[in-house]
Formats: sequence, structure tokens, C-alpha cells
Amino acid sequence: ASGYSLLRDPHHNKGLAFTEKERDSHYLRGLLPPAVISQQLQEKKSMNNIRKYQVPLQKYMSMMELQERNERLFYKLLIDNVEELLPIVYTPTVGEACQKYGSIFRRPQGLYISLKEKGKVLDVLKNWPERSIQVIVVTDGERILGLGDLGCQGMGIPVGKLALYTALGGVRPSACLPVSIDVGTNNEKLLKDEFYIGLRQRRATGQEYADLLHEFMCAVKQNYGEKVLIQFEDFANHNAFTLLAKYGTSHLVFNDDIQGTASVVLAGIVAAFKLIGGTLADHRFLFLGAGEAGTGIAELIALEMSKQTKIPLEETRKKIWLVDSKGLIVSSRKDSLQHFKKPWAHDHEPVKDLLGAVKAIKPTVLIGSSGVGRTFTKEIIETVASLNEKPLIMALSNPTSQSECTAEEAYTWSQGRAIFASGSPFDPFEYNGKVFVPGQANNAYIFPGFGLGLVISGAIRVHDDMLLAASEALAKQVSDENYDKGLIYPPFSNIRKISANIAANVAAKAYELGVATRLPRPADLMKYAESCMYSPIYRSYR
Ligand code: NAP
Ligand code: MN
Repeated sequence: ASGYSLLRDPHHNKGLAFTEKERDSHYLRGLLPPAVISQQLQEKKSMNNIRKYQVPLQKYMSMMELQERNERLFYKLLIDNVEELLPIVYTPTVGEACQKYGSIFRRPQGLYISLKEKGKVLDVLKNWPERSIQVIVVTDGERILGLGDLGCQGMGIPVGKLALYTALGGVRPSACLPVSIDVGTNNEKLLKDEFYIGLRQRRATGQEYADLLHEFMCAVKQNYGEKVLIQFEDFANHNAFTLLAKYGTSHLVFNDDIQGTASVVLAGIVAAFKLIGGTLADHRFLFLGAGEAGTGIAELIALEMSKQTKIPLEETRKKIWLVDSKGLIVSSRKDSLQHFKKPWAHDHEPVKDLLGAVKAIKPTVLIGSSGVGRTFTKEIIETVASLNEKPLIMALSNPTSQSECTAEEAYTWSQGRAIFASGSPFDPFEYNGKVFVPGQANNAYIFPGFGLGLVISGAIRVHDDMLLAASEALAKQVSDENYDKGLIYPPFSNIRKISANIAANVAAKAYELGVATRLPRPADLMKYAESCMYSPIYRSYR
């Protein structure tokens, strides 16, 4: 290849880091200024530039520009500055990027599969330049974070998630494929937006929807084989549960909103017992929001509780209560409930709102998974705090604008007694002379390591026990030093090590369950996981 095209190939471009020898042997002479600098200096320069931007969306755009120009440098930055850059390439900024995707759109990333491609999905996959794919993240854009239907512009989410698969989990970038399935949008604002990049029609539903998804699922398996992981991301709940159940027996599928969230939240809860005492069976759980996240978490808690106590699942579920937009889920509502809510319809008189439910159920753990901000009011937090010496409060909804409460509110209204974690990050907060560091209960802790575990074991199916294995591995990573600050999650700065631990535990479970195809089983899975992880250090070209 010519030196000119080398500089324009993000997988190989090193910019000014090309050595004198490489400049000679790869026809780069004169195409670069004389200075030769190290990757480290490039990193310093890029971070300086990014830090100069005040507006997060500008930081996001400059990161995307770097990904398209010099992939290894992009990942070097992301890995070395993970706590600073995660809020940029991921929640909350990625949410704003999706909302404005049409107007900031410059170069396409990932694959766009719309109703126009019906009947040709396999050909579309063949247009993608990489042959060997290990992880696909796919969305239909109907429930992007807590921001609702963003149609085709949901693409920002798979792109961001896969960047984390590489940076946090060490999956090779060339093995990652972001996909946006476009069946239209019901977002009126986007339909009228002259810069909208998707199909300008209302969402297809029913058979038409199912057919396009089925064609996609079949084409993926045909083109990439049985071991490719398909992660469903930000589908609306009326499709998410159905797709997961339908393809769970024939494909390697994982729904991050249902399963990844469950695993990460269970880890935080188990870790929190060091601070608040008790075991799962000693606690009462109340959720605001009974959708994918809420019922997914509830089910994994009930499953783990059942395993620990040998009490049947039907019984352990009764320790867990959920509130949706119509109030507490109780048995008298059973006939009108969506199927995924039915297991949670326990016997109780109707309660119309969260405050009433807090008073009636007296939860020790309060979890927000509603997608609606500011729903943990002063009165609600004060009530939970009056019931518990150390209430565990998790405000999971993303982005920051949708968080059920802020860290400041949780700490102040509980007089510094709450153990708090949130889906999007909050800064540490000082209350009565003590600094509280809120944990980030975000599935970014789980899915990269979980996916790596599947990939390195060659797993062909996902099993709930693997979610428990991931959760257990994460909870173990919280140190005494973290606990002292009130943290129930380890800092993201250790995430590669955390991911390797999760991967090893998930892979071990895959072998145990007999769904691993990479044989023989490596003796030391932790070492093996680490040895498989992508490194962003430049290679030298001869
Ligand atoms: P979902 O399936 O649409 O569920 C939302 C649930 O909230 C539904 O049960 C809905 O009630 C309920 N709800 C909505 N408004 C409400 C209100 N004002 N009062 C009471 N309940 C209300 O969404 P999801 O996938 O579970 O996601 C929800 C949120 O969790 C999103 O913001 C998402 O970003 C966040 N999330 C965070 C993480 C993380 O890692 N931290 C992971 C996944 C999701 P109805 O059923 O009655 O409509
Ligand atoms: Mn999601």
C-alpha cells in the first residue's frame, strides 16, 4: 500500500510516531513533517487538546475524530484515562451525541440495516470490511438510555459500547461490529428534523419488524458462525424480552439492559452488605421502574437468594417489590400486567405511588430503574432513611438528567447515612466534613469482561449462572480502601484487571456448563484472559 493510504487507514496510522525506518520502507518520506515523536507524547498532546474543550459534546467529537484517524492512539487514551473519558464516549455524553447524531454526523461508523435492506441483509454484512467478528452490539434505537426513541441515531450507543469492549474488556477492535437496525422512528422531532439520517417513517411493528430482525439474526449466524456474541442494546421492553427468549436457544445472545444491569447491580448489593450488614435474604427490595432493568435485576437477586438459601424462586421473589407508572405491582393488577411483570405481582392492597410503597413495604434497599429523573424526592429519601440506619439507594437511570436523585441529595437527605450508587457518574460530595464517593452502578463494569469470557472460552450460549459468576467476580474486586469511602464498586481505573477477573470466572462457568468450545480448557483462565486482551501499543512495521 502507498504511504498516503497508510496515513489514512485508522487501523495502521501512527502519525508522527512512524520511525525513520518506517518512513523509508513505507513510502512516507515527505508526507510527514520531520519530527518523530513517541506514542506517549502523542497521548499527552491529544489529552491536552481534549481538555481544552469546555463542552462535553466537543470532547466527544474530538474522540470520535481520533478513533477514525488513529485507532491505537484512541484506545491508548481511553485505557489510560478511563475515569476521565468514560463519561465522554459513554453515558452521559453519548446520549447527547445520539440526540444530535444527524447534525454532527461526518463519517459512518458501523452497519446500518434498514427496512430498505430487507432481503439483502446477508449482502450488507458482506460489505463490512472485517471477516472475523466476535462481538456485535445491535440496537433498534427505540429506548436509548432514558432518552426514548432516537431511531437510527441510536448508532452512537453500539459504537460507544464496542469502544468499551475493546478498551475495558480487551476485545480486538477489528472483531467488533456496531449495528443500527432502522425500522423507522416514532420521534416526531426527528421525523421533522432536516438533518435526520434515518428512515423517515413511523416504526414498523408486528410481522414486518419480526421478519427484519429474524433475517438479521440468521444472516449473522450464517456469516460469522455460532460463536459470535450478539448484544441487544436499548431495545424497548415490548421487544427486548421477546427477542432474548426467542434467540436465546439458537444464538449466543445477551441483553445488556436486562442481564448486564442485573449482574452489575447484584454485585453492588452484595458488596454493600459489608457496609450495611446482612445477606440477600435479610433484605427487602423496592424498585421504581419495572421494565428491562428493574425486572432483570429483581430476577437475578431472587435467583441468587434462592441458590443461597435453597428456598424456591417463587418464594424468594416475594422479598422483592416493584413500582411502575401505575403504582405498586400487586396481585389484583395481574390480568392487565405485561408478562415480565407478572412474577412480581404479590398479594398486597393497591398502592398508587412510590412514597406510599416505601411506607408500606419498608424497603432496606431502594433501586431506581424508571428512566425518569428526580423521582427520589426529599420525602422518599427521608422516609427510607428513617426506616434504616444505613439505607442502600441506587439511582440507575441514565443519563445524568434522568437520575432518580443526585449524590448530593441522597447524602444530604439521609444525613450522610445512605450508601449511594448511580448509573451515570457523580462527583464526590462533602457532607458534615466527610467526603462521600458515590459508586457508579453501570453495566460497563460487567459487559466487557463478560463478553471477553464468552469469546475466550468459545461459548455458544449464555446461561444465568454466567451472570452470577460475573457478578461474584466484580463484588470481590471491592477493596477495604474502597469501602472506607462508602464505595460499593471498585474504581474504573482498575477496569482491565477487573474485566480479566470477570472473564476468567465467566469462562470457568462456561466450561463447567459444557457450552465452551475452545478445547482443551486453559489451566489458568485468568492468565489466559489477560494474554488475550488487546493492547493499544503501536506495532513496528518492517
Ligand atoms: P423500560 O423497560 O422502559 O422500563 C421503565 C420502567 O419505568 C417501566 O416499568 C415504567 O412503567 C416505569 N416508569 C416510567 N416512568 C415512571 C414513573 N414516572 N413512575 C414510576 N414508574 C415509571 O426501561 P429500562 O430498560 O428498564 O431502563 C430504565 C432506565 O434504566 C433507563 O434510564 C436506562 O438508562 C437505565 N439503565 C441503567 C443501567 C445502568 O447500568 N445503570 C442499565 C440499564 C438501564 P410502565 O411499565 O408502567 O410504563
Ligand atoms: Mn443500555
